[in-house]
Amino acid sequence: METGQTNNNNEAQVDLSGNQVPEIAPADRKPEDIATSKFPRVQSPSSINTFKQCPRKYFHHYIEKLASFPSIHLIRGKLTHSVLEDFFLVDINNVSKENFMFDLKIIIMEIFKKHWNANINEMNTLGLTHAELNFYHEETKYMVQTWIKRFIHEVVKDMKTKSLVEAFNHQKPKTEEEYRSNIHGVRGFIDAIHEYQTEVNGELKKEIHVIDYKTSKRAKMSPPYKLQLAIYAMLYKEKHGELPAKVGIDFLKFDEPPMYLDADEELVDFARLEVAFIHECTVSKEKPDYPKKISALCKWHSGQCDFYDLCKDED
Ligand code: SF4
Repeated sequence: METGQTNNNNEAQVDLSGNQVPEIAPADRKPEDIATSKFPRVQSPSSINTFKQCPRKYFHHYIEKLASFPSIHLIRGKLTHSVLEDFFLVDINNVSKENFMFDLKIIIMEIFKKHWNANINEMNTLGLTHAELNFYHEETKYMVQTWIKRFIHEVVKDMKTKSLVEAFNHQKPKTEEEYRSNIHGVRGFIDAIHEYQTEVNGELKKEIHVIDYKTSKRAKMSPPYKLQLAIYAMLYKEKHGELPAKVGIDFLKFDEPPMYLDADEELVDFARLEVAFIHECTVSKEKPDYPKKISALCKWHSGQCDFYDLCKDED
């Protein structure tokens, strides 16, 4: 999960289209052309995508460190990640083979209930109507139900050759791991790292899939998502000395497998270039060096940028 979003993490931001977020790093630049020996700050996919969306927004959040505001999308995103994380702590040895499908669904819904209730006070401060809150509750519950259905389906497939415990553990990823690169000055929290064993010509081969969960209402591999995954591929390679096989987004609202990109050297080069370029662009601490980039993400029908009121009166 990407933390440290700078605004309300609204759907308008996460569903950026290619037109709204043009590439900043010039296509003819190479990572080695850009000095990265000194980093003004350690970047993250969130900070980089914020800069690309609007340099002024980056300035207010990451340099001036002005507060941003909670939103239903941010709270709901965090709690959904926590539900999946807690679910993977379940001791599968205590679940019966006969009823495991039913039991796992009950267990995850109990976890969902616990996390929803733990966040209800904060959600009640957002000024949503009862109907709106109920809508988000039902939509989030649906995401969790859809995800557990897919997870159980994969466990059942594995059980053709494995016990329930083996199948569950095969499908269980490592969760919320921090990856940090001191070489490139970037870090990120990877939601899920799956290590699958697949049989190729009678031999078992390890295949790593790196996954980020999203609660977006559209399943689309937008430029910010591609950049986030590219950074994860780069971070994974630096730590483990090899690339994952795939990096992907699991759009929880959709009953479909994750949307993957092949993790290759081209993707890693793309990440290196973008990260290096943002370091170069964020050396200054002066506001005029961070121009406003007015777009539909400044203000939309149900919300606005965290800094909209401040920004509209600024040069
Ligand atoms: S209101 Fe618009 S221009 Fe101003 S900081 Fe936010 S996104 Fe940038």
